[in-house]
Amino acid sequence: MPDRYLSFTRTAPGRFLTRRLGLPQPAALHRWSPDRPVLDGPLLHLTAGPSAVDLAPVLARTGLTVATRRSEGTAGAAPAVAARRPEGTAVDPAGGAARPAAVVLDATGVRDVGTLAGVHAALHPVVRSVTPSGRIVVLGAPLDPADHHQSAAQQALEGFTRSLGKEIGGGRTVNLVRLTDAGAAESTLRFLLSPRSAYVSGQVIDVLAAAGPVPPADPGRPLAGRTALVTGAARGIGAAVAETLARDGARVVVLDVPQAAQDARRLADRLGGAALTLDITAADAGERIAAELPGRLDVLIHNAGVTRDRRLVNMPAERWSSVLDVNLASVLRTTDALLAKGTLRPGGRIVATASIAGLAGNAGQTNYGASKAGIVGLVRSLAPRALAEHGVTVNAVAPGFIETRMTAAVPLLIREAGRRMNSLAQGGLPVDVAETTAWLADPASGAVNGQVVRVCGQSLLGA
Ligand code: NAD
Repeated sequence: MPDRYLSFTRTAPGRFLTRRLGLPQPAALHRWSPDRPVLDGPLLHLTAGPSAVDLAPVLARTGLTVATRRSEGTAGAAPAVAARRPEGTAVDPAGGAARPAAVVLDATGVRDVGTLAGVHAALHPVVRSVTPSGRIVVLGAPLDPADHHQSAAQQALEGFTRSLGKEIGGGRTVNLVRLTDAGAAESTLRFLLSPRSAYVSGQVIDVLAAAGPVPPADPGRPLAGRTALVTGAARGIGAAVAETLARDGARVVVLDVPQAAQDARRLADRLGGAALTLDITAADAGERIAAELPGRLDVLIHNAGVTRDRRLVNMPAERWSSVLDVNLASVLRTTDALLAKGTLRPGGRIVATASIAGLAGNAGQTNYGASKAGIVGLVRSLAPRALAEHGVTVNAVAPGFIETRMTAAVPLLIREAGRRMNSLAQGGLPVDVAETTAWLADPASGAVNGQVVRVCGQSLLGA
């Protein structure tokens, strides 16, 4: 179901009318494509207060030209500017005329409310100059339970980030990454500072310190030599995930129900992978996957999902149980079976699919909301153990309104509200969820564990 409002706002009369009437003006988002793989401008590296991490080598590998400014925390202080021109790039430092396409504000050293002034001092003069579809990434530190001043100041960054995301407009995104080790966060920063994260805004992502050596970043084909299985991959978001993981070098197994076998086979053939026809709710689904891929699965994407909406008063038990079974029970069963059998190799990645309906709740979706909230519980509980015992990370993506057959079936007015009620004033595309999944599946993302990352354009629903 095409977004006609979005198309209308791209015409001259549409632009004129929507501006006059004060209606939402969804920006054209810069998404990754082979022709435009990086952001269109330099990266400005700002620091508020003393820095607790060495970011320079990581930022130098983003593919963007980096300019650095230091603010010592006093509004109005003239910032010192230094520019680096990494490998083969020759761009004006962002301290000069070039508008930054990305801004990284290092606030890892912020330990009290006074130092927070450096956040204002650093960003206030530059926020207006960030290019459309630009990125702002604020870097914070984990909250120190022994220091309530540090915790207050660091938590303040969350409210700051989410508020700036809601006001900045123009397809720009604002996210917060809490880290202690810049090297471990490289894949995360690369993702957030690229066109791949076009529909990810207002997120707070915790990156652990690396448990071991971080594999060298391979922005081209990070999943080369790896095998990925995607459930519900015959169409919609799952198909986009399969395509994106294949683009990144993975051999992909496309799993879907027997009714979708033809589409699954066609996609698998195109991607040079394999199709597996299987209802994921089958009691022996894990065993059948294990038999198909004995000991050699690297990436497991739990994407299959269904809705059977009704208000609770009108919901028969069958509608309840079928949604819980596909969306949650089968995810628990197959995950347990594949971990127990050692099908997932060390270094493996599990990415499950939650939803903002599981975070914020949604009328008519008590079954669906319950199942998707259950995914969040699963991820948070299993992640530390799966990493310690199997070397496997467990994360979730939580899509907002994504343009698929599932949302095309939503009644018109609710669909329109879903599309507009986010900071980017438009629905996301399946590829937005796929890019986020690919970042979490990256071998270099081993320090990202137990996270639930919303792909929702900063939906107004939920935090
Ligand atoms: P979709 O309906 O277009 O595709 C779902 C796929 O899952 C289909 O190919 C279907 O055949 C398959 N599937 C369903 N039951 C299965 C089973 N028992 N075994 C194997 N495969 C099965 O849905 P979508 O919009 O692409 O959603 C994909 C995932 O994203 C789902 O988990 C959904 O809940 C979640 N999600 C979607 C949105 C959105 O806006 N589209 C928002 C939040 C979350």
